[in-house]
Amino acid sequence: MTGHPDLIDRAAERTDELLAEALYQQRKRAAEPEQIVENGHVYCCDCGDQIARERLEAKPNAARCGDCQQLHENEQRRLRGGK
Ligand SMILES: [Zn+2]
Repeated sequence: MTGHPDLIDRAAERTDELLAEALYQQRKRAAEPEQIVENGHVYCCDCGDQIARERLEAKPNAARCGDCQQLHENEQRRLRGGK
């Protein structure tokens, strides 16, 4: 036998780790983040601004203000390779 089986095993392990991490990060980004609620007000998890009441009426579980949600969606589209 030639080659370095240990090294190859380690490389494969490392690849699995990276893949798992990438999938985890992807799921985390795709999921709606937890709302930040203080004194009955909901605050944007990205910029910390209070989320408008109209927005919460339209989307009760919104965790971002309209601006940040738009940025987030643009980013998601870019990551998926869309334009
Ligand atoms: Zn925001």
